[in-house]
Amino acid sequence: MSEILLQTHGLTKQYGRHKAVDHVDLHIKKGAIYRFIGRNGAGKTTCLRMISGLASPTEGEMSRFGRQGKDLREVRSRIGCLIEAPGLYGNMTAYENLKIKCRFFGIRTPGYIEDILDTVGLKDAGKKRTKHFSLGMKQRLGIGLALVGEPDLLVLDEPINGLDPQGIAQVRDTIQALRDGRNMTVLISSHILEELSKIATDYGIIHNGVLLQEMTREELMKRCSERIEITLDRPEAALPILDEMGFANYQVTDRHHIHVFERLEESDVLNMALAKAEIPVRGISITSQELENYFLNLTGGASHV
Ligand code: ATP
Repeated sequence: MSEILLQTHGLTKQYGRHKAVDHVDLHIKKGAIYRFIGRNGAGKTTCLRMISGLASPTEGEMSRFGRQGKDLREVRSRIGCLIEAPGLYGNMTAYENLKIKCRFFGIRTPGYIEDILDTVGLKDAGKKRTKHFSLGMKQRLGIGLALVGEPDLLVLDEPINGLDPQGIAQVRDTIQALRDGRNMTVLISSHILEELSKIATDYGIIHNGVLLQEMTREELMKRCSERIEITLDRPEAALPILDEMGFANYQVTDRHHIHVFERLEESDVLNMALAKAEIPVRGISITSQELENYFLNLTGGASHV
């Protein structure tokens, strides 16, 4: 079983009579990309603030990095967070913003800042001042700032909110790279369902302050049969390629569609293999309509998610 990096027991935050977070038990495994899903006002930000040591719980316990208690200095040095908009100096470059934070942490390692800029895809931002950055660039710099000090856990609150599809893809790739390259554990909240489906390994669904379900990606896939949907003219021509690549759990659903129920993260590779075999693909996507329906059913019907 994977090592648990962070666990909460009965975590609660009460504002007056209102419980914004109500006895939440989260379990975040080392190396996970944990998606915390809920509608607006569900209690996500409040939870993340408590986990990151930015707000104190009214009730409940937390075990972070195998230790109970509230050593805030340790928590803050081991958790990097981006909660709400990143605080950037608009007249400075990405490099200069990072330099200030590094100085604050006493970090003077040569190449340290360049390395972070590379990780978050801002190596070429050069002399551009951050006030001229796109929202996506700002978010990525925010992630970069959270990386200073090499935290073990990165906490990101709605990092793709307001981003265009390209910005979303860049943030998503950055998160994936952090996990693959730095073995980082990432806790990421969102109310948008589809965009991050590709990379999440675990899910927690929160509603009205209550954690309704926690599950792994595989469990979720089983529950809502998440799949790669390939649209093409001759499905039968693609089957030998799927077999060759070791896909076993797929289905030809009609004259133009194949549904693949496994290895969803490999949709790009699959697309390339089909193209290489000169099988034209008209569309390939991971359907998360059912994930959305699943979420809506669980949280009481359609609404603005
Ligand atoms: P959003 O996506 O809209 O930020 P969220 O899931 O992050 O939603 P929270 O911001 O955690 O939700 O808010 C949960 C509930 O707690 C909301 O009803 C909110 O109004 C309330 N709340 C949050 N902060 C405070 C506060 N400082 N004082 C009083 N109520 C608060």
